[in-house]
Amino acid sequence: MYYIGVDLGGTSIKVGIVSEKGDIIAKTSSTTPVEKGFEGVAAKIKELINKVMVESKIDKENIAAIGIGIPGACSKEGFVYFATNLFWKDVALGEKLQVLTGLKVYVENDATVAAVAEYIKGVTKGKKNSIFLTLGTGLGGGFIINHEIYSGSHGIGTEIGHVVIGENFYDCNCGNNGCFETFVSATAIIKYCKKLLAEEKDKGLIYNRINGNLDNLNAKIIFDCAKEGDHLALKVVDRMVHYLAIGLANLINLFDPDIIAIGGGVAEAGDVFLKKLKAEVKKYIYVKCMNVTEIALATLKNDAGMIGSGMYAKLNLEKE
Ligand SMILES: [Zn+2]
Repeated sequence: MYYIGVDLGGTSIKVGIVSEKGDIIAKTSSTTPVEKGFEGVAAKIKELINKVMVESKIDKENIAAIGIGIPGACSKEGFVYFATNLFWKDVALGEKLQVLTGLKVYVENDATVAAVAEYIKGVTKGKKNSIFLTLGTGLGGGFIINHEIYSGSHGIGTEIGHVVIGENFYDCNCGNNGCFETFVSATAIIKYCKKLLAEEKDKGLIYNRINGNLDNLNAKIIFDCAKEGDHLALKVVDRMVHYLAIGLANLINLFDPDIIAIGGGVAEAGDVFLKKLKAEVKKYIYVKCMNVTEIALATLKNDAGMIGSGMYAKLNLEKE
């Protein structure tokens, strides 16, 4: 049997047919028609599912279930409480797609399904306890505890990005101040860099790289300049590393995981900060003599969402 894995994001929808082992047999994608609302996006997902089935010549009888990773919080039954980037609130995505496709549908948070992908095929493969963090526009987390997916009693747990770890100079989108993601996400790094560029006299390499236009600034430019030893870029990276270390040490002190894997866009610059990060984490862990949690970069990259969603459907189906 096969599974359909849907990676639903604010900018693109990726749909793949996934084998029992977690290999992608066929895939397709499209931009997300956010402006068409919930109905429009659901219809687009159905269209992409049909397309990938026709192209791969795998028909409905050979599909066991559909799994969907969404950028938001939802119940196991696929009721989405909210998905900020899609402008969704209280929509029954699981039910809707079940009606549209006639297949069983499982919905989960995108970071959780990516954690499943890494657990089945990636860097956390087979580990008893692992935490996956996705560092991009925001910060998401997926937890595997005792070889089981953990998302809380109501599906709204593991929101690591909104664990408060300090006081920050700007508020989080969620309305609170000091959320983990406001210190370490790509958005956070860019915000802090802009603040320094406004305050400091010696603006270093970055200012030239962006031709003096702050709109040109992105995380990659900051990491590239840090690699070249630019003082301002290093200041930005060091602040990120400091708070990321606090967050990781908190997770280690709470869960004693075998491994914490870091994925998402920011992880692509992992070589710039991973060594520093490991050293900094050591300062904050409680049982210092152990220091046994591995910190590594995720390995599956762009396909993680599809693989993880498909495998999430498989794991749930097997339990029923
Ligand atoms: Zn927040």
